[in-house]
Amino acid sequence: MPSLRALAAATALALPLAAAAQEQVLNLYSARHYQTDEALYANFTKATGIKINRIDADDAGILARLKSEGASSPADVILLVDAARLWRGEADGLFQPLKSAVLEQRIPVTLRSEDKGQGSAWFGFSTRARVIVYNKLGVKRDDVDTYEELADPKNKGKVCTRSGSHPYNLSLFGAVTQHLGEAAAEKWLKGIVDNMARAPKGGDTDQIKAVASGECQIGLTNTYYLARLMRSSNPDDRAVVEKIGVVFPNQSTWGTHVNIAGAGMAKNAPHRAAAQQFLEYLASDQAQIYFADGNNEWPAVASVRSNNPALAAMGDFRTETIPVSVIGMNQSKVQQMLDRVGYK
Ligand code: FE
Repeated sequence: MPSLRALAAATALALPLAAAAQEQVLNLYSARHYQTDEALYANFTKATGIKINRIDADDAGILARLKSEGASSPADVILLVDAARLWRGEADGLFQPLKSAVLEQRIPVTLRSEDKGQGSAWFGFSTRARVIVYNKLGVKRDDVDTYEELADPKNKGKVCTRSGSHPYNLSLFGAVTQHLGEAAAEKWLKGIVDNMARAPKGGDTDQIKAVASGECQIGLTNTYYLARLMRSSNPDDRAVVEKIGVVFPNQSTWGTHVNIAGAGMAKNAPHRAAAQQFLEYLASDQAQIYFADGNNEWPAVASVRSNNPALAAMGDFRTETIPVSVIGMNQSKVQQMLDRVGYK
């Protein structure tokens, strides 16, 4: 028979353990759902004992859900793609700033939101570039090796893009606005509209396919859509890749526009410690490889090398150096310009 004292000690021990066990959970609102992410999350749970509850939706769905849940939201970490959306989430007060020595040391300052004294609201964990694709039969590479040339009259009737208001384009146009100034950027947007082969429609992959088929000659795409086609076992996808050329624009000027997938701690995170642990884990060498590879992107941490064959085939390139937070900030200005020049 155990003594009363021993029982009391066991009870005293058991209580905090039970409480601790309840805390070993992380609620992740994620706009990413890739196969390699399973391994990413499983490794975190294995290393920390923290179970991840995932709410999967697209970016718009996650933002809408967080807004409707308000202060009672169970979200701990919010994961979104594109700086325009991260910036919007920050502006809507969905994140709480986080001071983390690990993240400050690992994630380049240009790939996280502006630290206004309490840390960053979000951190980029992988990068993607927005590149120009062209039909090799109809276009000379020299005629499309800068973003500026998308608006050049020599390319009249050749350009196709997805909607100008899509976050990927808002971000690119926000970057161009930063590089060229507002007046020149608006003139540039007008020039692209004048050069269009057809009204904007579809996604990035649709633009690549339209360029390959000759429906248009020049398009814009994020690199991971190209990588997917390059790694595809479908012969139709391979045929598309054969017909197109890829340009990393502005290599001799300000560099190719780069965007991020990123995450931050939710405003009312019930599990703050776990959220910080998870965000820091995403910056670890091992997690960086899984995270970037899940969507054929480059790791955000400079010392981590991707071993993705499609990315290796694209080679090294010069990227722009302006902070991605500035790009997001320009998006309402850009939307007004798009309305004025009739870019749907
Ligand atoms: Fe995408």
